[in-house]
Amino acid sequence: MIERLELFPHVIEMNYQGRRRLGCCVYLVFDENDWALIDIGYEDTTDEIIEMIRKLDFPLANCRYLVATHADVDHIQGLKRAKELLPNAKIVGHPDTATALAKGDRIITYAEIEAQGISIDLPTIKIDEKINEGDTLKLGSLELEVWHTPGHTNGQLAFRMGNLLFSGDNIYRDGCVGNIDAHHGSDIPDFIESLKRIKASDVEFLLPSHGPVFRKDDEQLQKTIDRLTEYQHMADFGTCAVDWPLLEEWDEELLQGFDPNKA
Ligand SMILES: [Zn+2]
Repeated sequence: MIERLELFPHVIEMNYQGRRRLGCCVYLVFDENDWALIDIGYEDTTDEIIEMIRKLDFPLANCRYLVATHADVDHIQGLKRAKELLPNAKIVGHPDTATALAKGDRIITYAEIEAQGISIDLPTIKIDEKINEGDTLKLGSLELEVWHTPGHTNGQLAFRMGNLLFSGDNIYRDGCVGNIDAHHGSDIPDFIESLKRIKASDVEFLLPSHGPVFRKDDEQLQKTIDRLTEYQHMADFGTCAVDWPLLEEWDEELLQGFDPNKA
């Protein structure tokens, strides 16, 4: 037996519990006899994490859900192994996550980034139950409200439990956001809407999928929203940008002519 280190009542995070960095955040939410994991991380830490959970005195047969916030390999690679160890648990995720994992999509999951020599095993994972906006996951007397928060990738879900939001890759403690990348299905206008929704909510704490938890800070969220709003008009973001104002300036100049004295 090891002592449970609860971040909040009913919430344990496995990196924090282990007092060292294992990978993405793995949240264990529990009440009465039920518990669930939000993300599991890479397969090479799955056995260790589940062994830790056993030592925390959570019966393995009582795991109700293995939740995938989205399909990225660093969040879900261990799901197949976790399901072997926790056969009573249902793997749940957004329909787009189910599609990406069923077909083993190596691009959208970041298992393959050929230009950088990144090639990671991606087991075929079957989502047992598709969940989406408006659904609720029940654990004992707890209820986790499912939020669809697209932007980083279309299939990303967040989960609200009282004053806490398990916020996925929407925003981190330093105001950074999850990778914006066309091949990943990122959408900047959707991302902005997801961040605005988080800002407008009365959630008090954000429990992200990477790095430490933090108190929701509306000023910081607004800064991030403003930054992403600029991204929409920057060539840096390629096909993720919605326009590029310089092209209009160029159109004008093509008609008016270039004057080196005004350049
Ligand atoms: Zn991530």
